[in-house]
Amino acid sequence: MNKDIATPLRTKAILNQYGFSFKKSLGQNFVIDAQLLENIVETADVREQDGVIEVGPGIGALTEQVARKAKKVLAFEIDQRLIPVLKDTLQPYPHVSVINQDVLKADLPAIIQEHFTQVERVHIVANLPYYITTPILMHILQSGVPYTNLVVMVQKEVADRLAAVPGTKSYGSLSIAVQYFAQAKVVKTVPKSVFIPQPHVESAIIKLERREQPPVVVRSESYFFKVVKASFAQRRKTLVNNLQSFLGQSYSKSDIQDMLDAVHIDGKRRGESLTMDEFATLSDALYQHTGSE
Ligand code: SAM
Repeated sequence: MNKDIATPLRTKAILNQYGFSFKKSLGQNFVIDAQLLENIVETADVREQDGVIEVGPGIGALTEQVARKAKKVLAFEIDQRLIPVLKDTLQPYPHVSVINQDVLKADLPAIIQEHFTQVERVHIVANLPYYITTPILMHILQSGVPYTNLVVMVQKEVADRLAAVPGTKSYGSLSIAVQYFAQAKVVKTVPKSVFIPQPHVESAIIKLERREQPPVVVRSESYFFKVVKASFAQRRKTLVNNLQSFLGQSYSKSDIQDMLDAVHIDGKRRGESLTMDEFATLSDALYQHTGSE
């Protein structure tokens, strides 16, 4: 087997060889702990016949670990300076294709159809650039990519929000947006010392298993997400107050209270106490009354 890229010595040697300087603006913190990366691949349950998409391969530390298990790997890297480096470090793995593109601009389902014709399942793995964690996750989830497991490293605080349950500080519109599409679980927390350069915050590995069907059925998905977002707009405000700001002056507080009463939801509650089921009921009730998107 080839030597791991993810050791302090080898990583520094590669960076020196190419005179590479980290760009903070691209969230470049590279992992120098091969075991941790193996752990990500194991958590994603990558098998011989599987295809894997990686976001942000950097110098190929995680890519190589995935490549040792998967049938085909597609890695999206935005930083053009890394393309020649990856060509070199990933040379022993011809079944890896690196695409020099912003993953947010990629038509993932089309690319999967083109490159993953012979694979059994598709997984997504990444040590995500922290400055755009949420847009990347929402891009993947909303695009309808038929992935089985998505295992990524994110800031610990974001991991907590992704997997949060009602009534906790971390629970918010992001928890619901993600849990609508997937079952989320924080796998483990990760210290800053596994990266160079070290980030300012702790990290965590999170696993999302795609749901075949959303856990709730709503009349309008886009309206549901709007109602959820509005309900958390000001966390300290009650549901009625937040919904009033959302619906505007044409609805009085008592109109809104009446709509909530009809579905047995107390308007004095705060968004953070509502379950996804309750948000679905709430959104359908408002949708029916207001008849709007
Ligand atoms: N996978 C490597 C590792 O674990 O050592 C590097 C991870 S580093 C946290 C994030 C990587 O994502 C960087 O290589 C960065 O250039 C890349 N990146 C940042 N924004 C991106 C985007 N919008 N699309 C694709 N790659 C991006």
